[in-house]
Amino acid sequence: MTRIDLDALRSSSAARMGDVLAGIGAELARWAKPDRGRARCPFGCGATGFPVSYADGRARCHYEAKSWDAIALVAERYGLEFRAAAERLSDILGGDFAEAPRRRSEPVRQLRQAEDVSRLWEALPARDERGEAYLAGRGLWHGPFPDVVRFNVPGATKDEDLARRARQGYRVAFGARRPDGKVANISLRYVGDGPPPDEKKTVSLAGGSTKSAAIMRPEAAQLAADFAGDTVLLCEGGPDFLAWTHSLDVAALEGEEPPTWVLGCIGAGIAESVVSTFAPLLAGRWVRLALDADKAGEDGAARAAAAAWRAGASRVTRITLDGAKDAAEVAEQEARNA
Ligand SMILES: [Zn+2]
Repeated sequence: MTRIDLDALRSSSAARMGDVLAGIGAELARWAKPDRGRARCPFGCGATGFPVSYADGRARCHYEAKSWDAIALVAERYGLEFRAAAERLSDILGGDFAEAPRRRSEPVRQLRQAEDVSRLWEALPARDERGEAYLAGRGLWHGPFPDVVRFNVPGATKDEDLARRARQGYRVAFGARRPDGKVANISLRYVGDGPPPDEKKTVSLAGGSTKSAAIMRPEAAQLAADFAGDTVLLCEGGPDFLAWTHSLDVAALEGEEPPTWVLGCIGAGIAESVVSTFAPLLAGRWVRLALDADKAGEDGAARAAAAAWRAGASRVTRITLDGAKDAAEVAEQEARNA
């Protein structure tokens, strides 16, 4: 386990207490700044309005007369002990606060703030003939879906990492959002000719937050306070997100399924931390785990199920598909048979 540089973590979270509060599901007042402002109480203490003020690295609920630093906030929100809370906080901040010294030749990993990732995301085009053809060929394109799917077309961005990925053929881009709906990472899907570089079909933005972001519609952030009775389904990656979202939207329209919001994890290995991070959206709901039918998916689902119960889910079920690894594979078979 890496040691976390607590001084760096504390000074970063003091400068970005608003991000910390938003990251644990508290709505910020419109005028709130990253380092000082007001928020709704993340603990639902019953106060109306914005009872929490924050400044200089501390948040205070004036209704409960309690105050916390960032680590204590995360610890209380998710029921974690100190070290686990510090690690979760480091994920929320999207940062690398590992204390281990780096060799001089190693490049310094650049960390990105959600504001910067959101800007990169918004700059990507929502349409692209080649990328759409790839998705259509897999039975996953049902029209523009710019909150979720954009295209990393060569020349679309000045960002070095994205531009390099575009040249390599990572053209379909999925926005991964924090629980408050802000894009904090971009997951890229290879659509080039031949095998992908390093055998990786999917890569994500260098320096983007991975453990605490999921591919979702931005409106899903409202699950923290609204849409009683709606359920949440957890799956792996962008193509699976599209397949599940389409089939569940159709099923909900026909009254066969309750309205269901899909969270796409960037990898089964982080399913547990996605569930913990998105706990405010899952409490009191039916959580359905549709991680891939393989070893990684099974392990991820078992840990995610335990995390979902801890998050206060009212029901947790596992979905596996007959004869298919995931929903995207089912959509592909249907597209081929059509
Ligand atoms: Zn409170």
